[in-house]
Amino acid sequence: MVVAAGRMKRPVLPTDSCPFCPGVGKTPLDYDVFVYQNDYPSMTLGAPAAPWSQSSETARMHRCSGDSRAEVPGDSDPASALYLKRPSFGACEVILYSPNHTASIYDLPKWHMDKLVDCWRERTRELGSIDGVNYVFIFENRGEAVGVTIHHPHGQIYAFPFVPRKVLLEIDACKEFMNEKGICLFCTMVEEELRLGGRVVAENEHFICIIPYFARFPFEAHLVSRRHLGSVMDLGDEEASAFGEILQALVRGYDHLFGFTSAYIMAFHQAPTDGADYSAYHFHVEFYPAHADSKTQKHLSGTEIGIDVFVNPSDVESNAVSLRRAIESAGT
Ligand SMILES: [Zn+2]
Ligand SMILES: [Zn+2]
Ligand SMILES: [Zn+2]
Repeated sequence: MVVAAGRMKRPVLPTDSCPFCPGVGKTPLDYDVFVYQNDYPSMTLGAPAAPWSQSSETARMHRCSGDSRAEVPGDSDPASALYLKRPSFGACEVILYSPNHTASIYDLPKWHMDKLVDCWRERTRELGSIDGVNYVFIFENRGEAVGVTIHHPHGQIYAFPFVPRKVLLEIDACKEFMNEKGICLFCTMVEEELRLGGRVVAENEHFICIIPYFARFPFEAHLVSRRHLGSVMDLGDEEASAFGEILQALVRGYDHLFGFTSAYIMAFHQAPTDGADYSAYHFHVEFYPAHADSKTQKHLSGTEIGIDVFVNPSDVESNAVSLRRAIESAGT
């Protein structure tokens, strides 16, 4: 985990000004897609890429700690063999999708969306090549329901010095499946979903979009590449374009389905960049909308927060029908 106590010192922004609009603060007057260095990062590349401070086999309570701008955070803590810590090495970037404050991602013309996907590829390559960056996480929080205060269209990229647990869990499952059956778990899932058909909400030549069999949120949707590849970096130009198109179609479909600018979390799941072999893993992007319908939000409760057991209050297959219809009728 990452402790970023310094982030509490972030200023409260005036509600009538947007730091991401062209010409405001650090944002240039003229841009299409812009990589903005987070003013209050949880992790910085300036922090030493040091290993965990203790290497006990039994002690597994890790944290990247302290205000990341401090040289070696948490130094005043007494030493402990149980609690391991390291400086908050890493990076936090904001990707501005468009200079237009009120644009949605699906408003971007094709050339512009291609540029955004290119930016994701380029940042993954660049950050992933830095020694000590073991995972590049591309994500977006959209809408007040998931805590967003700046509505200018933007996403984020965090470069972590470790591989997040959720990704490790998926990698382990992929490796196990590959060892047992000699094929990729996700490639097999793509085939199975296309054969069954009921949970596929959109598809094009290079990607499919499904509400997964194991969906934890009512309208959770996953974009999965048809070709076996590990990360956004591995997309060819045509695949990158098809990826942009299906992503735009999904978000447009969500807004059409709920009848307002929907709130969601988007998470790229891609292979780590620590140099190990992840050939069994398969690139995909997960979307978690905050709403179950236009009036109801899905809140996390006891089973979810307490023991990580998700209770999906809706019927996966009938939600897939609704979302597929919304995507179709929202058009292009
Ligand atoms: Zn703005
Ligand atoms: Zn695969
Ligand atoms: Zn995943």
